Amino acid sequence: MLYNIHYDIAATLVLLILLYFTLSRKGIKKPQHMMFFIVVLNGLVSCIFDIASSIAISYPEKTSVLCRDILNFLYLATHNMQALLLCLYILTTTGVYITKNKRFFRLIATPYLITLIALFLNPVFRWVFYYNADDMYTHGPAMIYLYASAFLYICIALYYVITKGKAIPKDKLAALVVFAIGGIGSVVIQMMFSTILIEMFVQSLSFLGVLFTLENEADIYNAISKVYNRRAFLEDNDIYIKSKIDYSVVSVKLTNINNYQNVLGILAMNEVRYNIAQWMRSFTKNSVVYDCEKDNFCLSLYCISHADIADIAEKIQKKFETPWTYNEYELDLRIHISIIDIPETADSLEALLAVVDSNKALGDEIIMRGAELKKLQRSNEVANAIQKALDNHSFQVYYQPIWNKEMGRVNSAEALVRLFDDELGEIKPDEFIPIAENNGLIVKVGEVVFRKACEFYRDNDLHRYGIEYIEVNLSTVQCMYTGLPETFKRILKEYDLTPIRFNLEITESVAVHSPDIFLDTMHRLKEQGFTFSMDDYGTGYSNFSYMFDMEFDIIKLDKSILWNADTNENAQTILSCTVRMLKDMNFKVLIEGVETKEQLDKVVSLGVDYCQGYYFSRPVPGEQFVAFCQAMA
Ligand code: C2E
Ligand code: CA
Ligand code: CA
Repeated sequence: MLYNIHYDIAATLVLLILLYFTLSRKGIKKPQHMMFFIVVLNGLVSCIFDIASSIAISYPEKTSVLCRDILNFLYLATHNMQALLLCLYILTTTGVYITKNKRFFRLIATPYLITLIALFLNPVFRWVFYYNADDMYTHGPAMIYLYASAFLYICIALYYVITKGKAIPKDKLAALVVFAIGGIGSVVIQMMFSTILIEMFVQSLSFLGVLFTLENEADIYNAISKVYNRRAFLEDNDIYIKSKIDYSVVSVKLTNINNYQNVLGILAMNEVRYNIAQWMRSFTKNSVVYDCEKDNFCLSLYCISHADIADIAEKIQKKFETPWTYNEYELDLRIHISIIDIPETADSLEALLAVVDSNKALGDEIIMRGAELKKLQRSNEVANAIQKALDNHSFQVYYQPIWNKEMGRVNSAEALVRLFDDELGEIKPDEFIPIAENNGLIVKVGEVVFRKACEFYRDNDLHRYGIEYIEVNLSTVQCMYTGLPETFKRILKEYDLTPIRFNLEITESVAVHSPDIFLDTMHRLKEQGFTFSMDDYGTGYSNFSYMFDMEFDIIKLDKSILWNADTNENAQTILSCTVRMLKDMNFKVLIEGVETKEQLDKVVSLGVDYCQGYYFSRPVPGEQFVAFCQAMA
């Protein structure tokens, strides 16, 4: 019997080319690429043995039985291993292999081990192949098992492509399907035409497709740090998160490397980046390093205990406590490390990126994990919601009436900003104002509130209801912005209003970084004609010099002082003495948080000038406030 070996020769050439390309890739360590290399290598070896054994059995008269037995053994052993390897390759590309334990892999390897045993015993029992009376190579009864096990492996592979495929980008999925079908198809063709050795040729063509798509490194590789790039990070994590795999990402942010770039130049710093990335690759084999851009390196860690991951983070922290040496330079590089456990801390790619991409760290902690990271994530989400509300003009302002004791009626209101987000729902100002102060957006938010208050006052002509002014909260951060007085002046002009219509509230508890700028801004606003209230009196460190410097008109006692006085006698003394002291200093006194008739009676008897609280009204939308005024008139 003669075999057609031409296809096998072509396959050998294709596989050699594939081997060259897989070998010429440098610095790659991902299991998927290792597997592909093994698949190609084993394919090549199997192909060569296929040719050799075919030639040997074609000329039985010129070759010994031992030689034919050995060549056939090598061919069938490598050939059947190929099905197992194809299956393992699909397990690595879909990320499934991470979720599986040793038992699973032992189970997967069992059909192939049985094949191996049958092959070993073949010279004795001749189950797999034998030579008939004419010395012709003939399939034994166990050969069907060999085909069945190959088929089984391809079916397992297809199963994972189908069930996990939704997580894989479309072009890559197509290549995987072709790859798996190529595997099955080649076995079937081989079974049908046993003398045409076409199986490896079909497979090698499907490998080519894989090389151009799944194994295409150029676009997932960072040319500077020689590790995977951001795109690879996004794709891999998307697959792993959607496949519900438990693992952790350690994100290492270099916070001051740019300072050195200005001194040493970009080429030198790129070499430092390369050194850092390569150093990070050395920790454990169960990891992949990514350069996520903006000097952020991420390490994906699989099958490692939480404690070991903490050890790795600590090791990184330690390393950066001493200077990083580069040539004769010693660089004092600063880092921040976040350990993101998936899915506990992040259960979506977006949530993962919220941490990885945040350029802010909470507190002074170098290593953050779990609850601290959740806080960071939340603050990023809120920061995004603030930006979105600014872009969409969706901030709202509610108004809470302020009751004037002397007049016996409401004569002003406090403007309180409200943020309703599509995804996060209502976000309380106590949460988002500090975040806006932190990222500077408070300047814009404050401007929106002031503008809305102006519009509201003018459009409803609130003066005719006896509303003399609106209280607007100013953040101390806003007052650091020296353009504030000009901005407010311009807005007032737009609405044809004067500063007497506004009283600006500033809280006393916030420490001010540059008191000079702060006081200067305040004085300029005062010169324009704005008056001021000191907010939340009694919650911070009462700073009298600031109180006098600022010439406040109204002091607003924090609600906690009133509420404590309800239950505690000493607090009652504090309340009455504070009111008396402030009155003696000629301030007007406002009490917040008045919720009951009893509280109102108490504070009125103490001689306060204004009251504000749920007893009169909660903060309400503009229309409701107008209705409130109309009812009052
Ligand atoms: P704040 O300036 O002390 O505002 C008074 C807060 O007390 C408001 O909370 C109001 O709803 C609440 N309140 C008033 N009366 C009562 C009462 O009788 N009982 C209770 N339990 N609460 C009462 P809100 O609106 O959640 O605002 C919280 C804080 O957010 C404000 O405290 C203020 O510091 C800040 N804020 C609100 N709007 C703005 C704004 O436009 N700009 C700035 N910079 N900060 C703002
Ligand atoms: Ca206030
Ligand atoms: Ca207050």
